[in-house]
Amino acid sequence: MSKDAKIATLIPLPSLDNQGKLGRSHESPHFHFVDSHAHLDMDDFDPDRDEVIGRAYQAGVRAILCPMDVTSLKSIQTTLEMGSRHPHVYSAAGVHPHQAKLFNPDFLSRIKEFARDKNVVAIGEIGLDFHYDFSSPDEQRAAFRAQLALAKDLRCPAIIHSRNAGREIAAAVREEYFYSGGVLHCFTEDWEFAKTMLDWNFFISFSGILTFANAQPLRDIAQMLPLSKILIETDSPYLTPAPFRGIKKRNEPALVIETARVLADLKKVSVAEIAQATTQNFYRAFRIPDPGSQPHI
Ligand SMILES: [Zn+2]
Ligand SMILES: [Zn+2]
Repeated sequence: MSKDAKIATLIPLPSLDNQGKLGRSHESPHFHFVDSHAHLDMDDFDPDRDEVIGRAYQAGVRAILCPMDVTSLKSIQTTLEMGSRHPHVYSAAGVHPHQAKLFNPDFLSRIKEFARDKNVVAIGEIGLDFHYDFSSPDEQRAAFRAQLALAKDLRCPAIIHSRNAGREIAAAVREEYFYSGGVLHCFTEDWEFAKTMLDWNFFISFSGILTFANAQPLRDIAQMLPLSKILIETDSPYLTPAPFRGIKKRNEPALVIETARVLADLKKVSVAEIAQATTQNFYRAFRIPDPGSQPHI
């Protein structure tokens, strides 16, 4: 019996009733959620990282992806350690657009090295952020292009961060002929961009922003996108979803279910269906064998 299966026999698995409410019944089938993007390596989680992961597991979150910041030794150590202690915590390796000013080609060999780890399933997060401009646009472009080319060489999915940069990201993916796909995370851009990225084999991931009162344009996009291309994430510790916004300052993976609830309303399906679809999409996007489809020993 795997360590994971052992834990599963110890913790009563949450399940969802027909209305999609979380219950504790052992009779109905179990539905699992995935948080496709959570920064559990950050200092915010130093005091209780294992408890946060445990709480998510009890809430039914059976996989979490924590992108590693390869410019930070602490992020590297914390992320690799999490992955070795919790096999369902996956990772990605990359230089975030905010850190692009630190980028140099040596990082590419570092990323390549990490990409060999079985828990590191993507290159990321990489991309462009023209909202904050923590690094200059040119520094961001250089880091993004170099890492996108590396992901292409490695035939590895990419996790892309795009803020006010949709047009340029789409142009880069096109020019690079980047067909390895991946995930456009914490989507906040327009429909045209979403559609273009679908054509390039990307999944679109929605964060807690989907639950915000003022996010109707984003909900409209989620409604139009095929469910087979959607992922959900928390982007913890940021973006706590409604109704916990303002109550819980720090977001955590267990709250990914709130985004699933809103998505279920939009798609007029049960939360269970959203759980199932987004979980399968996650394993497809990152080419991870779905543990749910393997027989328990
Ligand atoms: Zn991001
Ligand atoms: Zn992120």
